Amino acid sequence: MAEMTNAFQMAQQQFDEVAEQLNLDPDVREILRWPTREFRFQVPVRMDRGGIRTFQGFRVQHSDVRGPSKGGIRFHSSETIDTVRALAMWMTWKCAVVDIPLGGGKGGVVVDPATLTPAEKERLCRGWVGQIYRNIGPRQDVPAPDVGTTPQMMGWMMDEYSKLVGEYSPGVITGKPLGGGGSLGRTEATGFGVIYTLREAMKHLKLDSTKTRAAFQGFGNVSQYAAIGYHRFLGGTVVCVSYWDRDDRTSYTVSKQDGIDPVFLQSITDQYGSINKDQARQAGYQIESADAWIEKDVDVLVPAALEGQINEQSVQKVSAKVKIVAEGANGPTTPEADEVLKKNGVFVIPDFLCNAGGVTVSYFEGVQNDMNYYWPKVEVFEKLDQKMTSAFNSVLELSEGEHVYMRDAAYMVAIGRVVKAMELRGWI
Ligand code: NAD
Repeated sequence: MAEMTNAFQMAQQQFDEVAEQLNLDPDVREILRWPTREFRFQVPVRMDRGGIRTFQGFRVQHSDVRGPSKGGIRFHSSETIDTVRALAMWMTWKCAVVDIPLGGGKGGVVVDPATLTPAEKERLCRGWVGQIYRNIGPRQDVPAPDVGTTPQMMGWMMDEYSKLVGEYSPGVITGKPLGGGGSLGRTEATGFGVIYTLREAMKHLKLDSTKTRAAFQGFGNVSQYAAIGYHRFLGGTVVCVSYWDRDDRTSYTVSKQDGIDPVFLQSITDQYGSINKDQARQAGYQIESADAWIEKDVDVLVPAALEGQINEQSVQKVSAKVKIVAEGANGPTTPEADEVLKKNGVFVIPDFLCNAGGVTVSYFEGVQNDMNYYWPKVEVFEKLDQKMTSAFNSVLELSEGEHVYMRDAAYMVAIGRVVKAMELRGWI
C-alpha cells in the first residue's frame, strides 16, 4: 500500500517541481495535481465452478482538456486507486509531449488474471464495461491494454460497449486485435518509437550510429522491437539483452561479443519475454548475470523492463563510455540516479517521450476507426516517425534554449501544452 501511495505522490512531486520552474499559477497547479474524475466500482462475476466473485474496478480521468482521456486498463492483484491516479497523470503528459489530441486516463481491476479461466476473464471484461460505459467513449475516454490485459480482452470490451450503446463503436478502445478494429504496426510501435528518438539523439550528439553499441534490459514487447530497430535502421550493434527467466525465477543477461541477432533471439523467446537459454547457448551466446547488461562498455543503455532499475547503487556500475540512456520502460531511473546521470553529462531520453510510440499508434488506431479506413503498415510507421521526431525536437529545442535537462524540458513542453489548452477553452 505504501509503495502504491508513493507512485501518486511521486507523480505529484515531479509535477510540483516543474510547476515551480514554470512559475505556474497556484490555482492552475491545484487543478492539475488531481484527477478530474475518478470512478470506483464493483464488478461481480459468475465463476465457472459456481458462486460469484466481486472484483474492485477503477477508472481515473486525469485530464480531458486536450481531447478524450486516454490510457490502459491494468489487471493486477496489487492495483490501487493511487497507482491508477499516478499512471493517469503520466498519460496526460505523455499525450501532450507527442502532441496528440488526447488527455490522460488509466483503469484497473484488482485481480491476478492468471487465476481466471478464459470465460471468467471475458465476463470480467464485459462486467467492467457494464459499470463504466456511460463515462467512457470515443469522445470521452478511450481505454487500451496494459499490464495483465490483452488485445482479445479489448475486443470483448469493444463488443460489450457496442451492444450497450446500440451501435458499432470500435473507437471506444484501442489495442484491439487485427481484423477486429486494430491498427497494423501497434505491436512494433513502442520499440520503433524508442529508436526514432534514439536516432535523433545520435544526430544531435554527432554520433555515427553504425559505430555504436547498445545494451538492453528486458526482452519483451518494447525491447524486442527496439533492439530490432536499432540493428536494422541504425546499423548499431546490440551487445546484450537481459530478461527474467520464468523457469529459474531470476534474471540473466544474454550476450555475444560481436553482437546478438535480435530476430533470432525473438524466435526463441516466449510471450512473456523469457528466452530459452539452452537454445541461446547452443547458438554460441553467453549467459551472464542479471546485472551484466548495465556494466557493459557501450554507447547506449536501453532500460526496457521495469521501473527503478537505474538506481543509486546500479548507476555506479554504468560505464563512463555510456553517452545515451533511452528510457523504454516507464520510470526506469530513480531521482537519485538521475542526478548522477545528469552530473556525468549522459544524454537521457525521458520515458514519457521515449516510449510514447505505443500511445501514438493507439491514437492512429482511433483515427482509422473513425474513418473506417485502415492504413498500410508503412504509412503507420511513417506517421509515427514524424510524430516522434517532431516531439523529440521540440523537447531538445527547449532543453538547449533554456539550458535545462531533457526530462525537465519534456515536462515543460507537456505541461505548457495542457495549460495552453485550458486557457484556450476558457477554463483559467
Ligand atoms: P513485457 O512484459 O512484454 O516485457 C518485459 C520484459 O522485461 C521481459 O523480457 C521480462 O523477462 C523482462 N524483465 C522482467 N523483470 C526483469 C528483471 N528483473 N531483469 C531483467 N529483465 C526483466 O513488457 P513491455 O510491454 O515490453 O513493457 C516494458 C516496459 O515498457 C514497462 O515499464 C512498460 O510499462 C513500458 N511501456 C510499454 C509500452 C508498450 O506498448 N508495451 C508502452 C509504454 C511503456
